[in-house]
Amino acid sequence: MRQFNRYTVTSALPYANGPLHIGHLAGAYLSADIFVRFMRLTGKDVIYICGSDEHGAAITLRAAKEGTTPQAIVDKYHELFQRTFEDMGISFDIYHRTSATIHHETSQDFFRNLHAKGEFQEKESEQYYDAEAKQFLADRYIKGTCPKCNYEEAYGDQCENCGSALSPTELINPTSTVSGATPELRKTTHWYLPLDKYETWLREWITTGKVDGKELHDPESWKKHVLGQCKSWLDSGLQPRSMTRDLDWGVDVPQEIEGADGKKLYVWMDAPIGYISATKEWAAQKGKDWKTYWQDEDSSLIHFIGKDNIVFHCLIFPAILKAHGDYVLPTNVPANQFMNLEGRKISTSKNWAVWVHEYVEDFPGRQDELRYCMVRNMPEQKDSEFTWKGFQDCNNNELVNNLANFVNRVVVLTNKYYDGVVPSFDESLDIIGPIDVDEAAYHDSECLRLFDDLDAYCDYLRKYDFRGALKTLMEISTRGNQILQNNEPWKTIKTDEESVKVVMNLALQYVAALRIAIRPFMPFTSDKMTKLLEMPQLKEDGELNEMLMTLAEGELIIPAGQQIGKPIHLFSRITDEVIQEQVDKLQSSDVQEEETAPVNPLKAEIQFDDFTKLDIRTATIIEAEKVKKANKLLKLELDLGFEKRTVVSGIAAHYTPEEVIGKQVSLLANLAPRKIRGVESQGMILMAENSEGKLCFVNPDETFENGAGVA
Ligand SMILES: [Zn+2]
Repeated sequence: MRQFNRYTVTSALPYANGPLHIGHLAGAYLSADIFVRFMRLTGKDVIYICGSDEHGAAITLRAAKEGTTPQAIVDKYHELFQRTFEDMGISFDIYHRTSATIHHETSQDFFRNLHAKGEFQEKESEQYYDAEAKQFLADRYIKGTCPKCNYEEAYGDQCENCGSALSPTELINPTSTVSGATPELRKTTHWYLPLDKYETWLREWITTGKVDGKELHDPESWKKHVLGQCKSWLDSGLQPRSMTRDLDWGVDVPQEIEGADGKKLYVWMDAPIGYISATKEWAAQKGKDWKTYWQDEDSSLIHFIGKDNIVFHCLIFPAILKAHGDYVLPTNVPANQFMNLEGRKISTSKNWAVWVHEYVEDFPGRQDELRYCMVRNMPEQKDSEFTWKGFQDCNNNELVNNLANFVNRVVVLTNKYYDGVVPSFDESLDIIGPIDVDEAAYHDSECLRLFDDLDAYCDYLRKYDFRGALKTLMEISTRGNQILQNNEPWKTIKTDEESVKVVMNLALQYVAALRIAIRPFMPFTSDKMTKLLEMPQLKEDGELNEMLMTLAEGELIIPAGQQIGKPIHLFSRITDEVIQEQVDKLQSSDVQEEETAPVNPLKAEIQFDDFTKLDIRTATIIEAEKVKKANKLLKLELDLGFEKRTVVSGIAAHYTPEEVIGKQVSLLANLAPRKIRGVESQGMILMAENSEGKLCFVNPDETFENGAGVA
């Protein structure tokens, strides 16, 4: 992998018209925060940039609805975002906002630059106009059915269900969200970015990482679903995209440009430029040169986003950067997929969400528990799910039982045996005592193993595999517990004090290593452990690298003779009552509970062996008749290829005998035979049942040979 001198890391600018939910956190913020903290701990020059996205039609829309001004809306959410991020330990170097003057200037400079180069195409087009509200309708003011997935609530610029970017005229049955009227098309003039002209180099850049033969990124390191979405975009052909809008809230098109009156920059032109203006502001405050972070070839630009923003960060913004010419292109866009909640898609409008600021109020001082659980379920490669039960399990089974237990035992025993002083040990004794020693000295070999595990952990982090890294960390903690369990110092202390010193010193090295290594994931806990060990506060300035070097040299991370503090519990149990309160709160705030079918909860987990006991076969229904005096039952004759079976099935309320003859089905063929209404039923047909009790067959999607095994 190519090495860079510095890293410019961004998280998607949250849109300032509603609070943050856990899906946002899992998508673009937590992952980026883990990554930058890790980079800092390895001594890299990294900046972490974000801010509020305060323009666009949705904000004006909300202001109109609430009878206030757009400025009041963005002020409210900007402050809430700032506080929420800080509470959750998201460690931006700057959290800026796009209503700032420096941002308006920077965006206008971009527009001027591209305009002067002749990159834009000025085009008159027909756009939707709301005759009742007397205004052109920005994309977000138009809702309709998505032509790609038939989602009925798609916006004019994007379908939030399937992630497709749309233009308003593609929507089926468009309506104005301002007045509810059906909009009409009227003529207006805008500046278009000719994405079709850039298609060739965009494709080369995405698929090979090269532009004009120069290697800019490694596509192997990109997530498959990100590349997949980009390729599907490119394959369907890029269209010129309007970079301006008829709006009254946003960044003005530079007034010296003819026809600029009443025109604002498209929010997806100005928002990503917000990363640059925020960097300018940060650099001005710190006395740094912002240009090196954006214009130097040795700077790696990494955008953390949710999957709904892939097209803007992988195609449109890079096109703008390249058209400008002075800027580097992103080296990676590690977008996450979506996180669902208790079996359903998180929805702001339906209030089906866990709001992060409410979590902070309900669980004071427990930010790391949420961070941990979010990473365990991070939708890195596919959609994932948050459940309150899962949250409780993560906390009780992993943080309390494993990590907190290990740290607590080590600190308690160190206080008990050595008055809280890290014991020194006789290295010639290092070989004795412990159970699972091979040839190498015990302390040395366990420290080497720790080094290897930490090395693997770093590899995961560099590959944006945060779940993998966290798993490795917890394995280190498990290992620490095993070291105590295998050696039982509480027994050995009576017979062999010297070998207990070896074991306790070793366990303390593990705790000291975890204090640094958990920091990207759980910064608050890392601070607690630092205090507990009475070690110097972490500045996130290369400490992880220093620790790895110390280990590699066979030195101690926490020196013998170091005084540590009194035991504290890093985590405590979360009770069923507390979890139930959250579940109730979620259910009661669900505004569309009645309209949405309840989700059938999953049954208890089974093992693969349980599954392999089932023999499911394809079969064709060759005869069917009603079972007498049983209006729900059909008696079916099935052809399995190698034999025929009779099966009684409770589908008569849904299917007539004529309808099912000839259908291919999946049959549970090794179910013990059972007499139903005098007929022996030799198996069971697999049916899917929805929440209204409607049934349908589970069958092969094309005609397939009978008797084939289903697995
Ligand atoms: Zn769609």
